[in-house]
Amino acid sequence: MISTFFILSLTNYMKKYLLGIVLLGWAMIAKAQVADNYYFPANVTYSPAIPTPQQFLGYQVGQWHVTHDQRVAYMKKLDEFSDRITLAEYARTYENRPLLLLTITNQANHANLENIRTEHVKLTDPAQSGSLNTSTMPGVVWMGYSVHGNEPSGANASLLAAYYLAAAQGPSVDSLLRECVILLDPCINPDGGNRFASWVNTHKSITPVSDPDTREYNEVWPGGRTNHYWFDLNRDWLYTQHPESKGRLVKYHQWKPNIVTDHHEMGSNSTFFFQPGIPARTHPLTPRLNIDLTAKIGTYHAAGLDKIGSYYFTQENYDDFYYGKGSTYPDVNGSIGILFEQASSRGHVQETINGLLTFPFTVRNQFTATLSTLKAAKEMRVELLNYMRDFYKQGSTDAVKSYVFGGSNDRPRTWEMVEILRRNQIEVYEVAKDETVDGRNFPKGNAYVVPLNQPQHRVAKAIFEKRTQFEDSLFYDISAWAMPLTFNVPYAESKASVSLGSKVGENTFPKGSVVGKTDYSYLFEWDSYYAPRTLYELESLGYLTKTATQRLTVLVQGKPRMFDYGTIQVQVRDHDPEETYRLLQRLAERDGVDFYASSTGLTGSGIDFGSENFKAMRTPRPLMLVGSGINSNDAGEVWHLLDQRVNVPLTMADMSSINRVDLSKYNTIIMVSGNYNALSVDKIKEWIRNGGVLITMADATEWASEKGVSPIKIKSIPSDTTGPKPYALSELHKGAQVTGGAIFQVKLDLTHPLAYGYKEPTLNVFRDNNIFIQPIKDPYGAPAIYTDRPLVSGYVSTQNEKLLRNSLSIVCTNLGSGKVIAMTDNPNFRAFWYGTNKLFLNALFFGSQISSGRFGGGSED
Ligand SMILES: [Zn+2]
Repeated sequence: MISTFFILSLTNYMKKYLLGIVLLGWAMIAKAQVADNYYFPANVTYSPAIPTPQQFLGYQVGQWHVTHDQRVAYMKKLDEFSDRITLAEYARTYENRPLLLLTITNQANHANLENIRTEHVKLTDPAQSGSLNTSTMPGVVWMGYSVHGNEPSGANASLLAAYYLAAAQGPSVDSLLRECVILLDPCINPDGGNRFASWVNTHKSITPVSDPDTREYNEVWPGGRTNHYWFDLNRDWLYTQHPESKGRLVKYHQWKPNIVTDHHEMGSNSTFFFQPGIPARTHPLTPRLNIDLTAKIGTYHAAGLDKIGSYYFTQENYDDFYYGKGSTYPDVNGSIGILFEQASSRGHVQETINGLLTFPFTVRNQFTATLSTLKAAKEMRVELLNYMRDFYKQGSTDAVKSYVFGGSNDRPRTWEMVEILRRNQIEVYEVAKDETVDGRNFPKGNAYVVPLNQPQHRVAKAIFEKRTQFEDSLFYDISAWAMPLTFNVPYAESKASVSLGSKVGENTFPKGSVVGKTDYSYLFEWDSYYAPRTLYELESLGYLTKTATQRLTVLVQGKPRMFDYGTIQVQVRDHDPEETYRLLQRLAERDGVDFYASSTGLTGSGIDFGSENFKAMRTPRPLMLVGSGINSNDAGEVWHLLDQRVNVPLTMADMSSINRVDLSKYNTIIMVSGNYNALSVDKIKEWIRNGGVLITMADATEWASEKGVSPIKIKSIPSDTTGPKPYALSELHKGAQVTGGAIFQVKLDLTHPLAYGYKEPTLNVFRDNNIFIQPIKDPYGAPAIYTDRPLVSGYVSTQNEKLLRNSLSIVCTNLGSGKVIAMTDNPNFRAFWYGTNKLFLNALFFGSQISSGRFGGGSED
């Protein structure tokens, strides 16, 4: 056992001397375990009835990385033993791990909890908040740990925090539990956290190894940062596409906490960060007072960290711009979000430029920041409650009165958008009558209004607004995310009030139907977001399906109906007509697809059912390259899309073994952004020549160009030749050339298989790179081309915007009998770009049908 003082002295000593000389000595010391008094405040007694984490686990926090089942078991034990704690499971992860929320307050508050909650939530309703006496109301604090699984100090400190709150005795904790309701989420990302805990525990040596090059500190791909599908859950707070976030947001809005903490880790050579971040990079919808209150809370963290001799920084590196982050989302909801970043020991003890960094040390800093937050919450309680009330009292002063959207043929896509709005507690109404705004029609029955005259007007604005002017040109994350653009759902901003129909309560999924019954053929259009899922299931069940490459008109219930490019014909043939009809009914309801029966092959106009312009489908058998060097977020987006939304089995082969895989089993290979230098170019080319379809995105498109897999040429980016500049500004200047994530417009060729299912001649796309494809010779090979004024929302430098103009977004070229579909952008970004997923799925389903020109010329082999 070593004392706190001894460790502090060592930390200072370490900074003064070369590490190498004393490494062995440190390793010996680091082997020693910390005692409870290393973590917990002195002069506090603890109830002996509550088991400490060490008593429960059989080891001290920091000695091993707590696995999620151990964490859950301990929290359940505290719930059982402590009358201060109640535990609820708010969701299950994809891997079926429980997500927990502990409600911690004193017994009297627990007895009155529902009343406290309903009174608290009235702060966000200006119609009711005036009569509240905030001086007698408890504050609500939300403590969230380790949304990034390989940033473990938070999720391990959560055991200490829960124990302290359950067991500590004395006036300080008594007043805290009287004046606050604490909501504690001990681990926001259990799947990633467990992946990481397994990794570091598996590689832990009993004789500590602090060498950063050892396997313990170098996880294999994809690492533990992300969730099951390799998504960053700390980008999912606003659009909530994953069960972890969906469940959390329900609890969040049930309580509307005053402070929300978000405990992270950063590079091992750093120290500790707490917000405020860079003030100039705060989103303009966040009030200035939020930053001031954050800074005031920061003085509590500083005092807590000073007391244990830890170093820290503020107002650098991190920002509060993108509302999809856990420390930023609260800022647009009348709360104060606080980001903590602890230098990561990653494993158990790692050599850094600041000396040896032990896992217990990182856990202790997070626990210290937990206690300083709670102290601030207690002492600033009335100020924070009043801040929330005032925040919601301020109505919208915006010239825009309402956002109107809808009218798309793809109702499921609009439905998904409404779901997100509702998860954010935004009031959505149906239009009362047919509306025309800015020349766009919004028909009654298929269009919605979000009025800004509502308490959540800031969140609504954050979701709908377009923005191209910024105070700063550097962004920690994306600079644009406007939902109607990411969904490519028609919308307009109305400066006049729009008549409101009924408020959307239960948002029932827009089921499709089967019109007529036949033993010949059914048609369905490609509009529905879920049409690819329908198609894949039909193909899997052995139905012969064909795509219309030209339009056709068919009599439906006696009236001619036009079917657009990409319409799918399902031939009943050898299948039982009754069984087929029931199957189609099920698919129509599940996927929002309408089927139309036809008992004749002769059409009113356009192609007939037996036409060669109805092209037979090739069932996708996709392979995606994954592993070291590949962007795991981008790969995870493809996996999630195909698995969760289209139900297509995806083989994911590792780069390290790909040169041994028999590629002839697959008809499509997907290469997301990444480094493919280890890949055998000859093998890929031969596979394409034999009829394979290669889909490349971003860096992979650059690779395809460089290796001659596709004849496309990438524009070179001119270097800065404007002469000497101050060195201190270099980071700023370079950062300004980064396209961190913005929304641009492309022209779409609606007759091209890649654009099947789209109705508008322009499409919004997401871009976060500086890869620009030059125009090509083949006039039919570029179905998506950037417009000459491409920026729609977000930040891009003047230079990059010029390079982007009229460059190509998607290019299809031939190689032998195969195809290369090169995309510059990522159509599947973060699972909320519903509007461009179809570009990718079209490449998967129709890629093999694309030929350059009517007679298949223009092969570039
Ligand atoms: Zn993080």
